[in-house]
Amino acid sequence: MNGGRQAVLELRGVKQSFKQAAGRLDVIATADLQVYPGEMVALIGPSGSGKSTLLHITGLLEHALGGDVIISGQSTSEMSDRERTRLRRTKMGFVYQYHHLLPEFSALENVVLPQMIAGRSRRAAKPRAVELLTRVGLGQRLDHRPAKLSGGEQQRVAIARALANQPSILLADEPTGNLDIHTADDVFALLLSLVRDTGVAAMIATHNLEIAKKMDRVVTIREGVLEPY
Ligand code: ADP
Ligand code: MG
Repeated sequence: MNGGRQAVLELRGVKQSFKQAAGRLDVIATADLQVYPGEMVALIGPSGSGKSTLLHITGLLEHALGGDVIISGQSTSEMSDRERTRLRRTKMGFVYQYHHLLPEFSALENVVLPQMIAGRSRRAAKPRAVELLTRVGLGQRLDHRPAKLSGGEQQRVAIARALANQPSILLADEPTGNLDIHTADDVFALLLSLVRDTGVAAMIATHNLEIAKKMDRVVTIREGVLEPY
């Protein structure tokens, strides 16, 4: 699979546990994974198995209790929060179950702004945003605010936003979990085709096994251990 290439994302001995009323819960006992450029990995498992926790750690949104997240060969365990943030903004894109778009801004602005935060000028950001929104089928909805869009359209904007900075890694946490089945299928198909076209490596949590099987590889968290499905 890897042909001697470097993994774009590697989890090495990642652990996480939380203090809960009943005691400590070892949500992730150990997670090891290598994802290569352009590879799509499905993360499946029942509710509460630790999928979101693992994605938060992978996305450098949360610190692990142990282990390391290595991005394009760069260890992040000793990085400052500032460096982690920079890496997250420049190398990663996120899609959540809920769109988390900025309600006061148009679809276009929601895809322009993250590029500006990453250092691109508005002039450079706008054509890319238009292109991405057109690609997700919203070329005629650029000026619409999120509230004027359907659930499926909101999620399409969120996908465009996630790809705005040409990330090398896309992390998606049940990205169609809030949509009706029909819309979910459409949005997922779109997401998968964009992932293929852009060559971004993707790790996508879902509890839909049919969808998971369309990806290159399926992994699951079983009693805290990340393993092949
Ligand atoms: P999934 O996404 O697979 O549904 P989660 O990663 O959200 O699972 O949660 C895994 C377990 O960790 C759950 O039991 C959840 O209650 C617990 N958990 C997640 N985050 C925290 C936290 N910040 N503090 C305490 N417990 C947490
Ligand atoms: Mg979750």
